[in-house]
Amino acid sequence: MKRVEKTTDYNRRNAMKMLAVGSTAGILGLFGTPRANAEVYETPGYARGLAPVKIKSVKAIATAPQGSNLIVVRVETTEPGLYGLGCATFTQRAAAVVTAINSYMHDFCVGKDVDNIEDMWQSFYVSSYWRNGPVLNNALSGLDQALWDIKGKRAKMPVYQLLGGKSRFAIPCYTHAGGNTPEAVAESVQKFMGQGFRHIRIQQGGYGSVGAVQDKPDFKAAGFASESDNYMNEQAYIKSVPKMFETVRKACGEEVELLHDVHERSQPMDVINMCKRVEEYRPFFIEDPFSPENMGWFKQLRASTSVPIAMGELFNNNNEFLEPMAEQLFDYIRCHVSQIGGITPAMKVARLGEWFNVKTAWHGPGDVSPVGHAAQAHMDLAVWNFGIQEAVSFSDKTQKVFSGCPTMSKGYMSVNEVPGLGVDIDEKEAAKYPIGTKSNWQVRKTDGTIIRP
Ligand code: MG
Repeated sequence: MKRVEKTTDYNRRNAMKMLAVGSTAGILGLFGTPRANAEVYETPGYARGLAPVKIKSVKAIATAPQGSNLIVVRVETTEPGLYGLGCATFTQRAAAVVTAINSYMHDFCVGKDVDNIEDMWQSFYVSSYWRNGPVLNNALSGLDQALWDIKGKRAKMPVYQLLGGKSRFAIPCYTHAGGNTPEAVAESVQKFMGQGFRHIRIQQGGYGSVGAVQDKPDFKAAGFASESDNYMNEQAYIKSVPKMFETVRKACGEEVELLHDVHERSQPMDVINMCKRVEEYRPFFIEDPFSPENMGWFKQLRASTSVPIAMGELFNNNNEFLEPMAEQLFDYIRCHVSQIGGITPAMKVARLGEWFNVKTAWHGPGDVSPVGHAAQAHMDLAVWNFGIQEAVSFSDKTQKVFSGCPTMSKGYMSVNEVPGLGVDIDEKEAAKYPIGTKSNWQVRKTDGTIIRP
């Protein structure tokens, strides 16, 4: 694991304090005595009657070094040099999150105590009365993760230590293999197996095989909707998945774990039928089989097939996990951590899963910032019922903006072993990559009907 030294004023000052304690203790011959230990493991300021550390400002930092809009919250405190970072990335509506943070969250937070994360979470959550939306939840996640980062820096511990310490030495990850034919997918899987990955997601074309099926949809010929809209041939997709699994299993053997993301776009009975057909190829999990509007179909799915299921990427509120987890309707918590409001609610969902043997599988694509990846990696290290983590690769540009990013080796992710979340941001570098406001992800049936993800 890589150790990256940080030279913030705060850390420098702490190092000086420790040196001062060390030299006094050395002269007095106190090392190893209870008194010296008491000095080294300083009593926190608030417990000695000192004023609590307060929030001085909260602001959004927006950047897109790899093309996806990323939003990070920076919380400054009254302690010089002490600040925290948290991920607030809702890539498709990034500018709306920036407004929520700079125009509302800043005012709400200034002057409040940095210590009480649960209270800050609960009070911001209800502060707008109406809640549960992705914009405010992402803003809240930025604040929540930044406060955990600050707490780790103050405790001089990585955040996973505050969550209970390590349950594993590093984090097993899956990566994405793809191609427009089953053979191309198998080749891509072999490439990643060569890099040490033991868990690999397989997709033919885009989600729902969009792009892999080249026939021209009727809605385009009729001039309906926009020329840039995508077309999904639903039946071609449903038929292609078992064929892809069969080809990859034959070419790549029994050892590799194979995953697949339906991305919610097909009809429930079609997906149930598809899952039954891929059962013999032993998928690790099938992800997001239904859109959130179709939760009622889960009982039928479970009664029909033993294929493990991951669910929850589009859930907004951790209450959405409660009933299906208690009924063991899926096996993996597929959750975009910033979407439900950060580490605080995600740890509750993870702990709930321990009771029902439902495991974690946080959403970790390129539209989670390195700060967000670090936040979920710290939870991955700590929770017992960890399942798998989606791998990510950070470009050179991203790593110039964000230092201390989690690292990947032989299919495992590791965090930076410094206090807090371990990731820092260079705001001058971040400013070189402005965010955009275009997002176009419409997918239609051949008659032009919009398909819900
Ligand atoms: Mg997904």
